[in-house]
Formats: sequence, C-alpha cells, structure tokens
Amino acid sequence: MLDIDSVGASYGNVQILWNVSLSVKKGEIVTVLGPNGAGKTTLVKTILGLLHASSGSIEFLGKRIDGLPTYRIVDMGIALVPEGREIFPRMTVHENLLLGAQSKEAKKTKDDSLERIFQIFPVLKERRKQLAQTLSGGEQQMLAIARGLMSKPKLLIMDEPSLGLAPILVQKIFKAMQEINEKGVTILLVEQNVHRALEIASRGYIIEAGKMVLAGEWDELLANEHVKKAYLGL
Ligand code: ATP
Repeated sequence: MLDIDSVGASYGNVQILWNVSLSVKKGEIVTVLGPNGAGKTTLVKTILGLLHASSGSIEFLGKRIDGLPTYRIVDMGIALVPEGREIFPRMTVHENLLLGAQSKEAKKTKDDSLERIFQIFPVLKERRKQLAQTLSGGEQQMLAIARGLMSKPKLLIMDEPSLGLAPILVQKIFKAMQEINEKGVTILLVEQNVHRALEIASRGYIIEAGKMVLAGEWDELLANEHVKKAYLGL
C-alpha cells in the first residue's frame, strides 16, 4: 500500500532523513519507533507532502505521491492524526469532526462516517455539542483520531497518540486503534511507547538520527538486544 524507498528530507540545509525505506501492506498495523528527535514526525510530514522529499520515492497504491500537494495525497486515502492532536479548542466536537470531511466523497458520506465513528468512540457522541477544549486529554486524542477517520482513509497515520496520556487512556486508545484496523483501515503508528506499539503492530521499524537502523516482525524486535537495552530498559 505504502512504499517509501531511500527517502531523504531536509529543513533548509539541514538533512534530517537519510535513505529511509519503509513499506506498509494493506490491512497491517506497522509501527515506527525511535527516540526524541530521531525524525519520526519529519518522516510523517514527508509522506503527507508537507515537506518535500529531497531524494528517493514514495508510492501509495502503486502511484508516486512525492511531489503531490497534501490535499491530493489526502484525497487518495491517507489521513494524519498529528502529534499534539491539533484540534480546535473553541469549536464543538461535532464541528471538529466535520473538518475532517473535506473531500467531495467524504462530505457525501459524512453522516454515515459519524455513525461508525460514534460506535468506536461513544463518548464523542455524548459530548458532540461540547467545546473541544472541555474534553479530557484522552477524549481529545479520540477526537483527533475520529477527525482523521472522517476523510475515510485507507491508511491512517498516527503520530505519537499516547503522548501525555495516563496508562488507562493509552490502553483505550490502543484498543480503539485495533478496532479501527479490524474495520479495514491500515495503520502506520509512530510511537515512543515501544511496548504498547509492539503489542498491536505486526511489524516495526526503528529510526535513529534520521536513519532506519532496524526492521522486523514484532517478536524479532522484542527479542533484539538493542531494542531491549535502549527502548525497554531491560
Ligand atoms: P519527537 O518524538 O520529539 O517528536 P521526532 O522523531 O518526531 O521526535 P522530528 O520532529 O522529526 O523528530 O525532528 C527530527 C529533527 O529535525 C530534530 O533534530 C529536530 O530538531 C529537527 N526539526 C524538526 N522540525 C524542524 C524544523 N521545522 N526546522 C528545523 N529543524 C527541525
């Protein structure tokens, strides 16, 4: 579904990503793990066309997307749940959700999408008339994910959804992710919470200082000495 081949990316003169390759197959949950500043968000921005790849290629469903404007990439079926949620605090939950349905297709099916989303996150239905700023951190994360789903993505990219949440809420968010995946949405999950991420992902990649240093099935990664030492504190 997604094929990233030897991608480089820079902010001005500073190169951040070096020869990054990664693939996601339809139906998978794949995770990208790495420490602060490794380049995870930069990779996500490059996939979405918010930052241009300076080398390499990115294909989605067999078509080159590097070089396309972000709105075209979103229309093709990729949605981003950004780091820090970026919801609109003074708009209602319902209004925030509608902002996720921008394409013609998504607008046409928005009522249907809302119904499906409220099944996954009933609390958003209860609170749909409330201002988003009145939601708890976990609920705001649910709202950010739900807004991403409003565009009816084939691939949902989530950038550190567990950041700043209490363990119980992290558990809820990860459970919802599995449910969303079971309903047919492929997921690329960027995380620092290695344990949790490898619990739900089938495969993972480790990025450090802008380079992919390791890739493997979840059990291979959990058994890897470097992963154990650097990420699991074992
Ligand atoms: P975190 O978990 O902290 O979000 P990350 O792995 O997502 O980390 P990035 O946000 O991709 O890391 O940052 C990678 C590097 O790029 C860091 O050294 C960061 O300082 C730098 N960087 C990020 N955004 C910019 C920018 N707009 N201009 C210049 N440098 C940037």
